[in-house]
Amino acid sequence: MVGPDSELDMIGRDSSRAAGATLTVDLSAIRVNYRALAGYAAPARVAAVVKADAYGLGAAPVAAALFAEGCREFFVAHLAEGLVVRDALPAATRIYVLNGLQPGAEDACARSGLIPVLNSQEQAERWAAAAEALGRRLPAVIQVDSGMSRLGLSPDETARLADNPALLDRLSVELVMSHLACADEPDHPANESQAQAFETLAAMLPQAPRSLAASAGAMLGARFHYDLIRAGIFLYGGCRATPELPVATAVRVEAPVIQARDLQPGDGVGYGHTHIVKQPARVATLSIGYADGWPRSLSGRGMAWANGVRLPLLGRVSMDSVSVDITNLAAKGHDLRLGDRVELLGDHIGLVEVAETAGSITHEVLARLGPRLERRYVGDVAPAATEAAQ
Ligand SMILES: *Cc1c(COP(=O)(O)O)cnc(C)c1O
Repeated sequence: MVGPDSELDMIGRDSSRAAGATLTVDLSAIRVNYRALAGYAAPARVAAVVKADAYGLGAAPVAAALFAEGCREFFVAHLAEGLVVRDALPAATRIYVLNGLQPGAEDACARSGLIPVLNSQEQAERWAAAAEALGRRLPAVIQVDSGMSRLGLSPDETARLADNPALLDRLSVELVMSHLACADEPDHPANESQAQAFETLAAMLPQAPRSLAASAGAMLGARFHYDLIRAGIFLYGGCRATPELPVATAVRVEAPVIQARDLQPGDGVGYGHTHIVKQPARVATLSIGYADGWPRSLSGRGMAWANGVRLPLLGRVSMDSVSVDITNLAAKGHDLRLGDRVELLGDHIGLVEVAETAGSITHEVLARLGPRLERRYVGDVAPAATEAAQ
C-alpha cells in the first residue's frame, strides 16, 4: 500500500474505509485449494482460470499466488485480461485466451506471446496466416464442440481442419479442448456422450494434450480428467467439499454497521415494507447493497453472521445497505456498535449457501462483487509477488 499523499487524502481514505464493506481474499487458501485439486487430479495437470479478473478477486495477485504454488498454465477470456496476467507473471507461463482470436487481434496476440483458443476454421486460418507472415509456427489451442453448442469447431469444421496439413503445419497445437455443459449434474447422460464425442474429434487432430473438465468436471472423477483440468471456481472456494476434496474458504465479505435501532411490532423495514416486525426487535443497518454486487435476490432470505449468531436479513436489499435482525445477538450481550463488522460471506455464511439462497451460482456471486468493495489480501502474498516481479 502506498502512503497517503495529503491529509485530505488520508481522511478520505479512512472515512471510506470505515463506511464501506470489504472483500478479503485469502491467497493461502487459494493455494491450498490448488494443491488439493492438483493432488486429486494427478497425473493430470491443473491450469488456473483467472478470467474476469479472477472472478472479481484480482487476477494479478491471484495468478502470482498460484504461480508460486506451481501453476504454469492460465486461462483468461479476453486478450486484454491475458495482458494483465502476463505482466503479473514470469515468462515461463502459458496464457490461453478462451474467447478466441478476434479479427485484427492476431499481431497483438502473437507479439504478447498469448495463446489463442481457436474456436472455428476461420480463426485457425487467420492464425496460420499470421504465422506465415511471421515466418514461424505459432502456438495454438484448438477447441472442438463436443455438444455444448457454444464455442469450438463443429465436427464438420474439425474434419476440414484435419484435412488441411498445410494449415496445421503452421501451428504448434499445444492443447485440444472442449467444455462440458452439464458437469454439475453427475448423472447427466450428456457428460459421457460429450466425453465420447470429444475423443472422436480429438483423434482426428494432431496428437496433443487434451482438456475437457473445468472444476465440476474434475470432481466427476478421472474419466473426465484427460491431461489438463481448467479450474476456476474450485480454487476460489466455490465448490461443495467432498470426502476426497476439502475446500478452503478463500473469500470473506464483511460490512460495517452504520446504524442500529429498536423496533416495535408493526414497524416496517426497508423498501416496500416487505418485512413487518412482529415482536420487539433490534435491527442493524449494514453498509453493503446491490451496488456492491450483493444480490438483491437475497431480499427477505439472506443471512449474516456475528459473534456466533446467524442474523437474518430483513426486507429488501437496498443499493447501499441491508438490514439484519440482531435481536438474539443483543439478548446475548453482544449488541453491535457503529463500525462493528458483520460477516456476509466467509467461514460461517458459505459461498455455496449464499449462491443457493440467491437463486444463483457461486461463479456469479463472486464475479458480481463490485469495485466499491475494498479488496484486502491476506495469506502468502510476498513470495509470489517477489517471484512474479523478476
Ligand atoms: C470459465 C471456464 C472454465 C472454468 O470454470 P470453473 O467452473 O470456474 O472451474 C473452464 N473452461 C472454460 C471453457 C470456461 O469458460
